Amino acid sequence: MAGGASPSPSCIFCQIARSSTTTTPLLHSDDKVVAFQDINPSALRHYLVISVGHIPTVKDLQRKPEDFSLVSHMLNVGQTLLHRVAPHSKEYRFGFHQPPWNSVDHLHLHCLALPFTPRWKQVKYLSLGPLGGFIEAEKLLERVNPISSIPSKV
Ligand SMILES: [Zn+2]
Ligand SMILES: [Zn+2]
Repeated sequence: MAGGASPSPSCIFCQIARSSTTTTPLLHSDDKVVAFQDINPSALRHYLVISVGHIPTVKDLQRKPEDFSLVSHMLNVGQTLLHRVAPHSKEYRFGFHQPPWNSVDHLHLHCLALPFTPRWKQVKYLSLGPLGGFIEAEKLLERVNPISSIPSKV
């Protein structure tokens, strides 16, 4: 179990990760992450990559090798998926909601192939401004990178 986190029985994403729900087809699954389509898509293509272990939010990640490799693996899986299903999309976006903007308290990477549908949904995925509760995956990777000599671009 990633990060030593134990499953939470009431958590819907834990149920999906353990494949105890048959209503959510998994697009990818391995011992660290699973991927599936967002039930309420905000873009042309919208997938979620979640950790198998129950990690509540990005705030629970630390600057250490396990967390860095988990987040980079989530991003890799998301990129591979989107490039396969939406190879002609002009723009992709990958990122996480930070509390209190996260909808489910279980770490999930939003993988979006734009355009947003409908367009106003883009406000949920802004990293700047008063509603900026979204952190891009690359930014989070910098934050948890244990090799601190890499300068932060913030
Ligand atoms: Zn969970
Ligand atoms: Zn979210």
